[in-house]
Amino acid sequence: MAEIPAIDEIVELYRDVIGHYDPVRSSVTVHVSFYPYIGINQTIRVRDGQIYVRIAEICREMPIEIHKALAFVLVAKLFRRRVPKQARELYSNYVSSPEMRERATASRRERGRKVITGTSGAIYDLEELFSDLNAKYFWGTLRKPTLTWSAKPTFRILGHFDSHHDTIVISRSLDSTDVPRLVIEYVIYHEMLHVFHPTVHHNGRRYNHTAEFRRDEERFENFEEADRWIEQNARKLKRKVTKGKSILRRIVR
Ligand SMILES: [Zn+2]
Repeated sequence: MAEIPAIDEIVELYRDVIGHYDPVRSSVTVHVSFYPYIGINQTIRVRDGQIYVRIAEICREMPIEIHKALAFVLVAKLFRRRVPKQARELYSNYVSSPEMRERATASRRERGRKVITGTSGAIYDLEELFSDLNAKYFWGTLRKPTLTWSAKPTFRILGHFDSHHDTIVISRSLDSTDVPRLVIEYVIYHEMLHVFHPTVHHNGRRYNHTAEFRRDEERFENFEEADRWIEQNARKLKRKVTKGKSILRRIVR
């Protein structure tokens, strides 16, 4: 087993990566700490001209080259720049490995947060689904809004993101053994994209589903399978099926 990297070493690495994007800022003060987040969650922010990085506690044993890849992911996000493909893949493969996912699940169980947050339904736990999707599609870096089940099982709309209250609401009708995991995963993933791609205002109009949004939506691995299930269960969801059109895209807001 490789040595666990020291904090100083990680701080140095962030300075290098910051310098890569912005040489002027390479001497900025950087603070790196491990934080007892539930699951895999990594954050970066600027306060009073200094940069604060918080890495999930369960990533403490991460090899230095993965820290470097994560540094590229976080710093690029902060500076709104492109993440180098190699870094993105390296980090994403690491956090989506079975070992890391198991560790994330174990950390949630230990903390026993399920009861406190109220995100756990009879079958699905929104917190757990969010965290897995965050690791898989957003490198664990997507800011987490409030997650909640709808008060009643709604069928017309299965999910929506309320930006005023910064809340993702998922229909209770999906909290059922009848609903495959990939279907509820798709609905949550769609709402997460609304957090990732804020509404664009143009000529007095609001655009929620921009071209970038739709492009990222296609990255969802099981889109066709989920769509097929929705189509086959359209009646139950009180929806009409239109030939050749994705029904899945019309049941989420
Ligand atoms: Zn939407």
